[in-house]
Amino acid sequence: MPETNLRIFPSPLTIDLSGVYFRPEGLGNKYICGWSPPEDEDVKSDNLDVDYSVFEEKIWPVLARRVPSFETLKLRNAWAGFYDYNYFDQNLIIGSHPRQNNFIFANGSSGHGLQHAPAIGRAISEYLIDSNFKSIDLSRFNFQRVMNNTPIFEPMIV
Ligand SMILES: Cc1cc2nc3c(=O)[nH]c(=O)nc-3n(C[C@H](O)[C@H](O)[C@H](O)COP(=O)(O)OP(=O)(O)OC[C@H]3O[C@@H](n4cnc5c(N)ncnc54)[C@H](O)[C@@H]3O)c2cc1C
Repeated sequence: MPETNLRIFPSPLTIDLSGVYFRPEGLGNKYICGWSPPEDEDVKSDNLDVDYSVFEEKIWPVLARRVPSFETLKLRNAWAGFYDYNYFDQNLIIGSHPRQNNFIFANGSSGHGLQHAPAIGRAISEYLIDSNFKSIDLSRFNFQRVMNNTPIFEPMIV
């Protein structure tokens, strides 16, 4: 067996109450991290220049407090960008359209779609085969809630 320096730290996605989050990215001892600012500290969306002071001042101190070995981490790369989210309630939309029943949704997962993916896959495959949810009842998450204006808010989106 070849020697390797690879150390795998099986950390789940961790979201600190400050809005700082981190998770492993690949297997090479790399992590992806970020910070969801409170609304009054959010940056303008027309400027996608990376502000490295955010990492130094907001992110790194929280990482080092949570995981002492992060004190010696090295920042490899940074980017600023957009990602899709469901602006109605930041939550999944799944199942048939109430009026177009040959149109089936499985989208809107916003910042938590990877975590939901196994459940979404299973639920939507059962829905397609049986025309109904079986083992996982996700009917609360159908598009009707948008039409009824009854959001199911997800507070832990990052
Ligand atoms: C930087 C980043 C980090 C994230 N980290 C996490 C995380 O740690 N945990 C987590 O749970 N989630 C995370 N997410 C969110 C997660 O990636 C999304 O919720 C998930 O990928 C949504 O899956 P989806 O299949 O609905 O959409 P997508 O993955 O966006 O797939 C949609 C696909 O449709 C294609 N498409 C679009 N328009 C058309 C068209 N007209 N015709 C044909 N194809 C089209 C696109 O090219 C794309 O391949 C992160 C997202 C980003 C951007």
